[in-house]
Amino acid sequence: MSRDTEMAHLHPVFRHKVELLLQDLARASLPFRIFEGFRSPQRQRDLYSQSRTRPGPRVTNADAWSSLHQYGVAADFVLFIDGKWSWDDSAERKKWWQQLHKLAAKHGLQPLSWELPHLQMQDLNLSELQAGNYPQGGDSDWAENLQQAIDSWRGSPAAPPLPPGLPARPPLPSAAPAADSNTPALANQLGIKARVSARDGLRLRAGPGTGFDIKTTLVSGQLVNVLGNSGDWSQVDLQGDGLADGYCHTGFLEQLH
Ligand SMILES: [Zn+2]
Repeated sequence: MSRDTEMAHLHPVFRHKVELLLQDLARASLPFRIFEGFRSPQRQRDLYSQSRTRPGPRVTNADAWSSLHQYGVAADFVLFIDGKWSWDDSAERKKWWQQLHKLAAKHGLQPLSWELPHLQMQDLNLSELQAGNYPQGGDSDWAENLQQAIDSWRGSPAAPPLPPGLPARPPLPSAAPAADSNTPALANQLGIKARVSARDGLRLRAGPGTGFDIKTTLVSGQLVNVLGNSGDWSQVDLQGDGLADGYCHTGFLEQLH
């Protein structure tokens, strides 16, 4: 459950505001960077449990689905100086944080009084988000990431409704291997080489590296054909038609034979 700093996982309206703020910060030579953007409900629960059901300092007042980070409309900005993150707000640096909040306000980004790095889209109501009333203008990058978070959540409270505007995918040809046909014998018969083994799903990317665009997320248990390897990355075919669909990290593929 690592920190997510992907701009694509932020709601486009919020993402644009964050981009403008980052430009302003650069112009003002203020060394703030995004420490964390989207946060999965699992990670929120983990942070929430710290100081409550497990040891450690209290770091958040919000449980899963109760932080705007889960909806891609909040981000934490932290000083990044000499290759290190810094939360220092003493002496001269106090003014830097004040300037961060001042520039943020210009773009409709709101701080929380008790959490210096946190900025969120202003005038949003948590209970509206929890009811599935998301800000207008969501795109597929944001929606698919939120969908993945919703689909992967098994806990309580219940996940919010799915975001609207998820891109419809064409149905698979009827000859395509079913995703649940995961017995090795059948997989062998179909020429299947590997099975996705990643609890929260596996990103399929346009190229062999995390810098490439995310094309979709493969679900755990899904069968894929591996066409080749490039470093730690496998080029995969999803339909069984011999054509490459993208790349995913080989570490999350279980070889079947
Ligand atoms: Zn935050």
